[in-house]
Amino acid sequence: MTKIELSNVSKTFASRDRSAGSVHAARALSVTIESGEFFTFVGPSGCGKSTALNLIAGLETASDGEIRFNGSDVTKSAPKERDVAMVFQSYALYPHLSVFKNIAFPLELRGVEKQQREKAVDEIAATLGLRTLLKRKPKELSGGQRQRVALARALIRRPKVFLMDEPLSNLDARLRLEMRSEIRRIFLEEKITTIYVTHDQEEAMVLSDRLAVMRDGSIEQCGTPLETYNDPQSQFVAEFIGSPPVNILPGESAAKLFPKLAARMSSLSSNINAAIRPTKVSVIDPSESKVCDDSAYANLRLLEMTGEACWGHLEFEDQLLRARIPAELSIREGASVRLKCDPADFMFFSSETGARNRAA
Ligand code: ADP
Ligand code: MG
Repeated sequence: MTKIELSNVSKTFASRDRSAGSVHAARALSVTIESGEFFTFVGPSGCGKSTALNLIAGLETASDGEIRFNGSDVTKSAPKERDVAMVFQSYALYPHLSVFKNIAFPLELRGVEKQQREKAVDEIAATLGLRTLLKRKPKELSGGQRQRVALARALIRRPKVFLMDEPLSNLDARLRLEMRSEIRRIFLEEKITTIYVTHDQEEAMVLSDRLAVMRDGSIEQCGTPLETYNDPQSQFVAEFIGSPPVNILPGESAAKLFPKLAARMSSLSSNINAAIRPTKVSVIDPSESKVCDDSAYANLRLLEMTGEACWGHLEFEDQLLRARIPAELSIREGASVRLKCDPADFMFFSSETGARNRAA
């Protein structure tokens, strides 16, 4: 079991474009990943997720700061000394070797005897549903099966730490869901400290014990999936976590659209954005709207049916927002509708800095 600590870890690259100066791919990252935890770095492309993972793996050397495994400083250690296993987006199997040999390869390198190798491959192949495929070559496998072989090869040597960089990105949507559950299941069985990288917030939410939302080389917020969803510390985190994405309205528009909200906002400064999750806004049945003065009228521009839910794209004074449309209402695109919500469900962010404003 391995606990990993990053203290003020930074990485600066000389820019590929010389005129642009240096790139701060990681800025003073400080985080403790507990032993046996599933931890994820999540954020948009280019925010420094892979850099963070490569620093932990030892594939990159920190420009500054310290990395510790179970208390001992590994900042300058080679990847081999850290005993980490890594799985990437492209699964780089040996094409000329069978699935069995691909999985057994790390043990062969270590000089593990044949009988022990066979036993270990058999066990891990059973866990990952690969037993019937052991004689095949990688080209005879589907994308999901290949990724499973890559996972097996990484896990077979029982590493101290398991690192994965966007391992599901090359799979189609359905397989991604399957493999996602598989990864969580294996983790629960093996309990190896696992650090995962993805740009997909949903993947991060369902897999992780805790996650760090990254932005421009820094950790913007670190917490459990529910903490980042329910209690985002910045507008960036509020917008990044959750699907469909949170509604953001300039304070003045929000107060006009929802008159009841105005009272709650009166204590706030004027440079404020109001945010509410689409799940927390609903359309009022037009036949009832005469007796209900919850909101001003908004225009229903588009209906989006997903099967489980129906989302309306609404427009109010050039501002767009999403709301849940109850399935029993037959409202058409182009209709003027009123919305209902609980003013307590709004969050506020400074429109200048994006920081959460909790005054209200
Ligand atoms: P992510 O994995 O979140 O997409 P990366 O960690 O790969 O982001 O990259 C973070 C930033 O560092 C990007 O701006 C990227 O262009 C830059 N970068 C990454 N590796 C190098 C490198 N070897 N040389 C120069 N810049 C790099
Ligand atoms: Mg990356």
